[in-house]
Amino acid sequence: MLIDQHQRVHNYLRISLTDACNFRCFYCMPNEEVEVSPMSKLMSKDEIVAFATLFVSLGVDKIRLTGGEPLVRKDFAEIILALSALPVTLSITTNGVLVHKYIEVFKQAQLRSINVSLDTLNAATFLALTKRDQFQQVKDNIELLIAHNFSVKINVVTMNGINHQEINSFVRWTQAEPIHVRFIEFMPFSQNQWMSQKVFTFQQILQTIGHEFSYIKIKDGKNDTTKKYKVLNHAGTFAIISTMTAPFCGNCNRLRLTADGKMKNCLFSKTETDLLTLMRSGMNMIDAITQNVLLKEKALGGQLLTDFTQIETQELENRSMIAIGG
Ligand code: SAM
Ligand code: SF4
Repeated sequence: MLIDQHQRVHNYLRISLTDACNFRCFYCMPNEEVEVSPMSKLMSKDEIVAFATLFVSLGVDKIRLTGGEPLVRKDFAEIILALSALPVTLSITTNGVLVHKYIEVFKQAQLRSINVSLDTLNAATFLALTKRDQFQQVKDNIELLIAHNFSVKINVVTMNGINHQEINSFVRWTQAEPIHVRFIEFMPFSQNQWMSQKVFTFQQILQTIGHEFSYIKIKDGKNDTTKKYKVLNHAGTFAIISTMTAPFCGNCNRLRLTADGKMKNCLFSKTETDLLTLMRSGMNMIDAITQNVLLKEKALGGQLLTDFTQIETQELENRSMIAIGG
């Protein structure tokens, strides 16, 4: 079992398949011209499967594939089908634009739940946020996933003055559709234009929803990052990921592997362990993995302040979100 110095058991691994993406969300990546890693620096399919198998032997039973955009990887289907042979609950986070090409692969891999990121229900705002004119394709693909009976979670990075006005439109969407909308507080990463004034907080989100809807709290799972709610008589639910104002580190069970094979024990960890170099030199990785887990900081990688208004972004030591894997 992978246990840290704060007695938290880690059974959930998020694997980034690539640091490339077909969108350009400003809150996730530095700029349009960002360089992506050459394939030789990324984990190959066989290396991903070998890492996943090793982590499963150490107690991991849940794996999420992310990126960059995981579906831009040419060997995505082979990777997910190989991983589906492991005794894990497998899931994926995607921007949704290529989902229609992979419905059968998702079924073969026995995926049940898929997270799709969509920050706006307005095509012009979508273009401004992602720099790609693909709103309708993403929306259609969400409908396609629902039609094929996947459980769909919608990730909405909620930013003050940018899309906070749309919160209730997203909640309205849950009336007829069995989707699970998750409002995510805007987090700071390297060069992502974060400012504390752009954070639309957990409390502000709830207040906004309360102006239009009566909602109830529903039970959260032990390791959930979300606080879940439901408007009575709605088919779907909504939830809030409150990293900035009410972090959920106490029960954290997550570990991360970047696309270039570095292990991070927290989204905000300063340190990384270069597992890919160890693997390629035929060295034992178990000590490096257990040590990495053991040294996990109590909260927020030990570097984000609990009062988010005091965060100085230039002092943060981290990659951009696209290079970590969200
Ligand atoms: N490309 C895929 C997608 O967009 O879903 C997977 C990778 S993306 C980095 C994973 C998640 O991180 C997305 O839901 C995205 O909205 C979220 N994200 C990226 N930057 C963020 C930020 N600064 N604050 C909060 N969430 C962020
Ligand atoms: Fe790409 Fe996802 Fe980042 Fe947007 S959030 S740039 S879709 S990796």
